Amino acid sequence: MSTLKKVLIVGGGIGGLSTAIALRNAGIEQVDIVEINPEPKVYHVGIVVQANFIRAMAALGIADEAVKAGFPYNGLRICNIDGDVKTELSGAKLAGEQYPSNLGLTRPALHEVLLNGVKKTGAHLKLGMTFTTINQSEQGVTVTFSDGTQQTYDLVVAADGVYSKVRQVVFGEQFKPKFTGQGVWRYNLPRPKDLMYSHMFEGKSGGKVGYTPLTENSLYILAVWKEPGNPFFDPDTLAEEFQKRLEGFGGLIPQLKEQITDPTQVVYRPLEAILMPSPWYRGRVLLIGDAAHATTPHMGQGAAQAVEDAVVLGELAGKDLPLQDMLDQFMARRYNRCKFINEGSIQIGEWEQYPTPGANFSGLMAKMIEVTAQPI
Ligand SMILES: Cc1cc2nc3c(=O)[nH]c(=O)nc-3n(C[C@H](O)[C@H](O)[C@H](O)COP(=O)(O)OP(=O)(O)OC[C@H]3O[C@@H](n4cnc5c(N)ncnc54)[C@H](O)[C@@H]3O)c2cc1C
Repeated sequence: MSTLKKVLIVGGGIGGLSTAIALRNAGIEQVDIVEINPEPKVYHVGIVVQANFIRAMAALGIADEAVKAGFPYNGLRICNIDGDVKTELSGAKLAGEQYPSNLGLTRPALHEVLLNGVKKTGAHLKLGMTFTTINQSEQGVTVTFSDGTQQTYDLVVAADGVYSKVRQVVFGEQFKPKFTGQGVWRYNLPRPKDLMYSHMFEGKSGGKVGYTPLTENSLYILAVWKEPGNPFFDPDTLAEEFQKRLEGFGGLIPQLKEQITDPTQVVYRPLEAILMPSPWYRGRVLLIGDAAHATTPHMGQGAAQAVEDAVVLGELAGKDLPLQDMLDQFMARRYNRCKFINEGSIQIGEWEQYPTPGANFSGLMAKMIEVTAQPI
């Protein structure tokens, strides 16, 4: 039986909702989630996930729903500037032969799967709500909410993302995400029916470009590109700016590039990352997901690492462990893995910006597949 009875999760994103499911599955009596957004909505872009994400979904009991909501594809092809395939990486089917090793998902589709899971397990999600103060004692952590109410919990899990307010309040203002020098450009387009691989093109200094299947009918085209000084782009120029970054590449890039016409449909995000030093807890407050280890998308592992945090926490919460032991065991299982992903992703971005002799993108991606295949 767990020593935890009441847990609050701050943030109802991928990590927070997954943690709620994991904790309720582990038998925690009361799990509350506060999500600052008044609507259960996420912005309409896609994410790609790999076999360790699907294995983590299986541990939460929602892998079938996740796979059904997404589009399974075969793996990653790393190409030269002209589109000739240099390396193909597929990864093992870690969740079992019946599940794919690579999946494209729209964020709204994944959110729906997680929200249904939360509803089924009986966690309480409060939308349009956040905390105002967090006060800890030996006995518990008392949280005042934005509606003026107050409750005391055994544990607060901060899953409030890369700009975590809990991190700022409990750990200090000095821990801030850093701009990595690149931005990511994305646009959804129709998927050619035979496109079953994600393709990334190397060969120009500054970044890489590519496209990846997202749903039966769509793909997204992307550029991860050097953006010195983290500039602001006039929203009207986004289509044209994205097109510039795609110049000179082969494969399907030229024909997809011509279809990037509507600046309002371009999703541009500067890349920021943070790796909190261990431990990610202070007393009874634990950071997970992007709040603890926001990475860049170079390895496609951000969501997977957030869900793995949830699975490990749920597993430990189900045991009769003193809180301190539980949190230490959590750190022992999570820190090095997240550190590898965080540093590896930043390393790839550095190589893209500053071409380096011996840089081995496909070798590091293969290592990532090996590391993430290990049990969590
Ligand atoms: C451009 C881009 C592309 C990406 N592509 C991929 C990809 O292809 N594959 C992949 O695996 N990962 C990808 N990621 C990373 C992935 O999106 C994150 O790692 C993942 O969403 C982390 O989940 P999280 O729950 O920790 O944070 P989030 O998903 O950011 O959720 C945080 C939640 O907390 C809420 N919140 C914030 N502040 C408060 C507050 N004060 N009170 C209450 N609630 C609050 C937010 O509204 C949000 O709902 C990408 C990231 C970026 C930026």
